[in-house]
Amino acid sequence: MSNPLFDALFAPHIGKETPFLMLPEGGVISHGTFMSMAAQYAHVLRDMGLEPGDRLAAQVDKSPQALAVYAACVMAGVVFLPLNTGYTHLEVDYFIENSGANLVLGREDALRDLQRDCDRMGVRFETLELDGTGSFPEAAQSQPDHFDVVDRAETDLAALLYTSGTTGLSKGAMLTQRNLLSNTVVLKEYWRFTDSDVLIHALPIFHTHGLFVATNVMLLAGGAMIFMPRFNLDQVMQALPHATTMMGVPTFYTRMLDDPAFTKELCSNMRLFISGSAPLLSETHKAFEERTGHRILERYGMTETNMNTSNPYRHERRAGTVGMPLPGVELKITDPDTGEEVPRGDVGMIEVRGDNVFKGYWQMPEKTAEELRPNGFFITGDLGRMSDDGYVTIVGRGKDLIISGGFNVYPKDVELVLDDLPGVLESAVIGAPHPDFGESVVAVLVPEPGAALDIEAVEHALDGRLARFKQPRHYVIVDELPRNTMGKVQKKILRQTYGDVFA
Ligand code: ATP
Ligand code: MG
Repeated sequence: MSNPLFDALFAPHIGKETPFLMLPEGGVISHGTFMSMAAQYAHVLRDMGLEPGDRLAAQVDKSPQALAVYAACVMAGVVFLPLNTGYTHLEVDYFIENSGANLVLGREDALRDLQRDCDRMGVRFETLELDGTGSFPEAAQSQPDHFDVVDRAETDLAALLYTSGTTGLSKGAMLTQRNLLSNTVVLKEYWRFTDSDVLIHALPIFHTHGLFVATNVMLLAGGAMIFMPRFNLDQVMQALPHATTMMGVPTFYTRMLDDPAFTKELCSNMRLFISGSAPLLSETHKAFEERTGHRILERYGMTETNMNTSNPYRHERRAGTVGMPLPGVELKITDPDTGEEVPRGDVGMIEVRGDNVFKGYWQMPEKTAEELRPNGFFITGDLGRMSDDGYVTIVGRGKDLIISGGFNVYPKDVELVLDDLPGVLESAVIGAPHPDFGESVVAVLVPEPGAALDIEAVEHALDGRLARFKQPRHYVIVDELPRNTMGKVQKKILRQTYGDVFA
């Protein structure tokens, strides 16, 4: 009898005095203290009537206590369902209803709205605050700090993680113990994590990046995390000399580069910077290496699959690519219409198969059938190509592909050229309905600070660099692109805003 995820990630830490969570204000929570807290929380879950397989939805701030709720769920066999703290109570209602959650953890300030909604839906609601207080931790105080862990099979669900909702409605990805554990084992080895690592953790813990990639890897390795409530440049700068590794989204790295105090000396204790969740510009990769001597290691994954590819640790970390398929992950690039593999180097749909790939979307059998093939390959929705030596480049999402006058326009191809022009800081290219071409290309440009962009000059510069059908027919200049907390550009919003420019 066993609980594989618990046995590998958590059990070894019981009673250990080694540091696990280092808080920016100075406190340190040892592995042992964390495990005692998790055991107490697991007792509360059982006392509140949660059975193995039940769901706990948590829309709470990032804190050691919030992380201990995840551990408690694994111990009690409860399916953990973390939610973006930015969601409104109406959005959270969808997740509660869709998941059939049996317990909701929220913040005191959500009491009025979310608690009322929970009461209406007949779901129990408890509070957990940023500072670790609230009705849930209060109920744990008198509980024993040992818990008889519930047996689970590798095929049992460990988490229900909703996708970011970049392309449509968020979908609940059912992740089994095996999905999480297999990926953790691979990543720890691939990125050489050990118990002497100290990771800067400034990511949210409601998303796979901060929750599973970062936390699970550190739990398996046995190292410590400098655990910040959110990304704060000053705190990161202070933490760097005490850390060995960092995981971040590209915007973390551009913000660090914007600060002249971010220097090579500050990074002298660091061995590895990892980036993911959104594309890292080659420009950022190069600027980072020039400044620090470190080549950022970019990897690629998603809620449904954990991590699929990574640049290598020892060999070339190639800017603009997401590296190679990880051990145990099969990756192929296919023709979206036929599902047949395309010749090496051609653009196609990225499909992946392996122990990392989820079990399906929660209560969405049709959606699951559309994206998960009977042979186990998951159709990621991302378009990419693979070089002769196996490096994968993401060219964008299938849903962002523009078909103009019958020709495929990959937004990334156009964005790369636009980003290179003088005065352009960054760009986003979208398709908008067009009476003649079906769709045509719209470029949303962010100028460099102080630069005045001359659209005619931009148009002129594109002649000869991009085929006519790829050239934008409409330009918009904005101060910044709409991004979510994970640094993902929200093209859905851009399409809504500029959808009628050719009408
Ligand atoms: P939804 O599926 O609801 O539309 P989402 O796909 O943004 O939202 P996530 O699972 O958080 O939800 O994000 C996974 C996606 O993020 C990938 O499919 C890919 O498009 C993008 N992504 C992740 N890492 C990278 C990377 N290194 N480079 C480019 N894109 C990346
Ligand atoms: Mg997705």
